[in-house]
Amino acid sequence: MNNIPETFGSLVFNREVMKERLPEEVYKSLKHTIQRGDDLDITVANVVAEAMKDWAIEKGATHYTHWFQPMTGITAEKHDGFITPDGKGGVIMSFSGKELIKGEPDASSFPSGGLRATFEARGYTAWDPTSYAVIKDGSLCIPSVFCSYGGEALDKKTPLLRSMEAINEQALRILKLFGTEAKHVEPNCGPEQEYFLVDKEIFNKREDLVVCGRTLFGAKPPKGQELEDHYFGAIKPRISAFMKELDEELWKLGVLAKTKHNEAAPCQHELAPIFGSANAATDHNQLTMETMKKVADRHGLVCILQEKPFEGINGSGKHDNWSLSTDKGMNLLAPGKNPYENAQFLLFLCAVIKAVDEHQDLLRISVATAGNDHRLGAHEAPPAIVSMFLGDELTAILEAIDEGVPYYGTQKLQMEIGVHVLPTFPKDTTDRNRTSPFAFTGNKFEFRMPGSAMSVAEPNVVINTIVAESLMQFADELESASDFRSALNDLIRRTIKKHKRIIFNGDGYSVDWTREAERRGLLNLPTTADALPYFVSEGNIELFSRHKVYTEKELRSRHDILLESYCKIVAIEAITMCDMASRDIIPAVESYVLKLAKTVNALKSADAPIPHHTRATLTRLVELSDEMTASLALLRANAEYAQKNLSSNRCGEFCRDEVIPKMRDLRRAADEAETLTERSFWPFPTYGDLLYYN
Ligand code: ADP
Ligand code: MG
Repeated sequence: MNNIPETFGSLVFNREVMKERLPEEVYKSLKHTIQRGDDLDITVANVVAEAMKDWAIEKGATHYTHWFQPMTGITAEKHDGFITPDGKGGVIMSFSGKELIKGEPDASSFPSGGLRATFEARGYTAWDPTSYAVIKDGSLCIPSVFCSYGGEALDKKTPLLRSMEAINEQALRILKLFGTEAKHVEPNCGPEQEYFLVDKEIFNKREDLVVCGRTLFGAKPPKGQELEDHYFGAIKPRISAFMKELDEELWKLGVLAKTKHNEAAPCQHELAPIFGSANAATDHNQLTMETMKKVADRHGLVCILQEKPFEGINGSGKHDNWSLSTDKGMNLLAPGKNPYENAQFLLFLCAVIKAVDEHQDLLRISVATAGNDHRLGAHEAPPAIVSMFLGDELTAILEAIDEGVPYYGTQKLQMEIGVHVLPTFPKDTTDRNRTSPFAFTGNKFEFRMPGSAMSVAEPNVVINTIVAESLMQFADELESASDFRSALNDLIRRTIKKHKRIIFNGDGYSVDWTREAERRGLLNLPTTADALPYFVSEGNIELFSRHKVYTEKELRSRHDILLESYCKIVAIEAITMCDMASRDIIPAVESYVLKLAKTVNALKSADAPIPHHTRATLTRLVELSDEMTASLALLRANAEYAQKNLSSNRCGEFCRDEVIPKMRDLRRAADEAETLTERSFWPFPTYGDLLYYN
């Protein structure tokens, strides 16, 4: 790719293409729909459809599809050709406004959590004109929402768009009080994406990776990430070739892929795009994940997005960098030169602090999946306890306000590196804190709990809604105040006092913090099974209904889908383990035991001494084989029970208490057996083979 500016967005029906190809009136009308949310006129849709089709065909497309995000977490598409019979035995290429606006996929095979019985299969997809259509594999992909016949959301985009409207409405009320000019406020998102790359041939030899996307067995290799030599390390040629092609593919799709580097664990990498509107960023992140998988395949690699593919080394997250900005380009979370005197900033900051403290449960739920449970609180990831990092300067400002004393500010110091030839630069007023789940990073918040495989829609839905709620309460109070300034000062001070317990600038990975958090009364919800019941609490039902993000019915259905999916994943993993243990691991251990036994016999008949190693290994492997057989039987029975009782509310707890601990037992025995069994007997590639393939 020589000319990046020219190829960037070449497969996107973006504003420039619209302007070029649509009559002026139509373009204007569509622009108003996109920017102001005006209703879309069908005559406009017809003209847009025609232009889109012509453009897509010129780019080699033959099909179109409504591209949507059902509750599976991945995207869905059903491709229809542009061909229509011309009545003379041939075809013409056609695409109408009606087809652009609405699709009718059979909804019965997507998770709906009881919102739609199979006999009421009808579902609708509807064009989301606020996210651009792109061409992918010869199909025009039209970003769409997905809902049931009754209008209930069956996807991730609909609630996201609703939550964006909610925060827009409330933020505008606040801005009006400050006299800040804005017609529209939008949440922004920059999702940093972590992933693993492993060799395809090696990957395919492991049933756990193929079926579950993560390893269920595997003894720790002699070297994990202890030497800290992978993070930001030089990128190896094979990976570099992958990254180069990935960037090019993403740029064509209009994704602003910007940063790439090696991550902390062996074979782990990261891609960060330039942030954008939360809606487009969410679509782009889905495209990114999909493209990563496709491009990896072309390089003989597999891209693993699962949150915890390997035990004992880092898992992968997706940091959700979130901020709010106005249509005039103002970042409402930018503290400016003098944050202490920037009351509007302080109020928005307080809105986020209050939101995070009051809705710790929802933030935890927004990242709750079976896969991410293994990551949160393990090794490198933020703990399952939600807290906020604000850094030294902001914390000092808030403390000063809380105590009612003046704040004199910190001087921006020059950085002293001690080498005269180097340019000097001002030091940031605060260091970074990598261990915090929700960190203020200069002019945005970085929510670090989301897992790498999940859509960033849910975390954004929750952040938008809970901040909208804070802003609504603030606006209610301030709008009715007789003296705005004193009411504002009072409100800021009160909010800090009440919610400062959520602020923690220390090491979030330490055991002390868990104790301290408990003392502060913060929630600690280690697993999805612990977190999900909070989703449908009375307060949360009211919250989401008030902001028109989820109806009670939609919320309950989502709860059921999440719970069912958690249980299904745990059960599938458990059964995969049973399969691997009974068909691969135990037979391999037994073959090796037999070899050892034969050695012992041969030595005995030769009247030779039997080495201690041989005898000890033989004894231990027989014990481990028996342990595995016992754990296996229990695990299989429990997993099958869980699978049969998926619709029970207790299924989550059952998986947490009865299935997952048995999985651990089986793994412990198998991993020890791996360290004792002769290499050539082991039935599949080890951690060493997987992690050090190139
Ligand atoms: P780091 O790894 O140091 O946290 P990266 O550069 O990898 O930083 O990623 C930071 C992410 O935050 C990028 O996706 C960037 O576009 C995004 N970002 C920067 N400013 C904002 C903002 N105001 N709102 C939302 N996201 C932002
Ligand atoms: Mg980064």
